[in-house]
Amino acid sequence: MSQKQSLDTICIQGGWQPKNGEPRVLPIYQSTTFKYETSEQMGRLFDLEEDGYFYTRLANPTNDAVAAKICALEGGVAAMLTSSGQAANMYAVLNICSAGDHIVSAATIYGGTSNLFTVTLKRFGIECTLVDPDAPEDELEKAFQPNTRAVFGETIANPALVVLDIEKFARLAHKHGVPLIVDNTFATPINCRPFEWGADIVTHSTTKYMDGHAMCVGGCIVDSGNFDWDAHADKFPGLTTPDDSYHGVIYTQRFGKGAYITKATAQLMRDMGSIQSPQNAFLLNIGLETLHLRMPRHCENAMKVASYLKSREDVAWVNYPGLEGDKYHELAEKYMPNGTCGVISFGLTGGRAAAGVFMDKLKLAAIVTHVADARTSVLHPASHTHRQLSDEQLVEAGVDPSLIRLSVGIEDADDIIADIEQALR
Ligand SMILES: *Cc1c(COP(=O)(O)O)cnc(C)c1O
Repeated sequence: MSQKQSLDTICIQGGWQPKNGEPRVLPIYQSTTFKYETSEQMGRLFDLEEDGYFYTRLANPTNDAVAAKICALEGGVAAMLTSSGQAANMYAVLNICSAGDHIVSAATIYGGTSNLFTVTLKRFGIECTLVDPDAPEDELEKAFQPNTRAVFGETIANPALVVLDIEKFARLAHKHGVPLIVDNTFATPINCRPFEWGADIVTHSTTKYMDGHAMCVGGCIVDSGNFDWDAHADKFPGLTTPDDSYHGVIYTQRFGKGAYITKATAQLMRDMGSIQSPQNAFLLNIGLETLHLRMPRHCENAMKVASYLKSREDVAWVNYPGLEGDKYHELAEKYMPNGTCGVISFGLTGGRAAAGVFMDKLKLAAIVTHVADARTSVLHPASHTHRQLSDEQLVEAGVDPSLIRLSVGIEDADDIIADIEQALR
């Protein structure tokens, strides 16, 4: 299978490659542990001298097959599943940052990630500067410090729907000798492949479109293999100097382009253990098998709903990067010409107070914390996911206090619009 396959084919057939007589469908390796013939062989695994499984806290064949599928979809060289999107973003940063280091992140990111970076990682001694992603490059330059180790942003920000200028952020990161990490949860590789625009590491909350059915919390980290850690060895000693916990292995020397993911598995998974359960990985794989069919339908439906909302007088504003005239339409056309995602944000003329009343009247669309699955759902970030932020912080994160996040599903668009219409009435 050396011929380059289309994403549609990878969604179905990527990852699990059964050999003669093996199951056609990816099996669930429901086993914590793996058996070896000799003590010597097991020892070599613990020294990272041989590839193999020994304990599911670090790695599991079911997970690895699904990670390989996502890796192929993103066009990366190595990938790993994590127990959640939060764990993916935490590991992506902790793999290259220690106490005393610093990261630069777009301010318009998911509330959970914002908490992780500005509250929890701060307690670990890692500082984060939040920047306006739309600021000009010379302004963004000012956020960089000698101890900056990574730049972070979301392809399409949840819930602000800000489209990241990936090339601009990659240029800045690389100028300062650090990688760009992009959370590609909302676009998915079906609509955008950040590595093609210069991103170095991609993360996912697979909980959203990849799973697609709101069944399993999960995450994934993919490495492009493009960042030259050795060229900036002083910044990334964890990858370029001996690891005493593995008899002095130097990850970049021993594993080449696999260094970043191998280190994250061998150190972070070993010590922190945020592994995805193989059961969940199996279900995630079923979701991935239809990702290429679902994403276009999400986008088509969202476009219809966004256009409808735009036509209403009781709707004050609508953000959807797919809409012509949207602030991010041009960036969306550049990075996601085939569609963005199914999420729309809008505000009613009645503002913050009207949002709750409107949502209570919806019948088909359910009020849920979740976003980006097959069923249409709705959330008011200022009252729910982002309620810990002040009004000032909300605006900084691109979240208007009146903002309603509508996650358009793959039902019939006319039924979704009819539901919105009766609730608005
Ligand atoms: C949901 C989400 C996360 C967090 O993922 P979990 O799977 O809920 O831990 C991170 N980034 C984005 C963009 C998200 O939408």
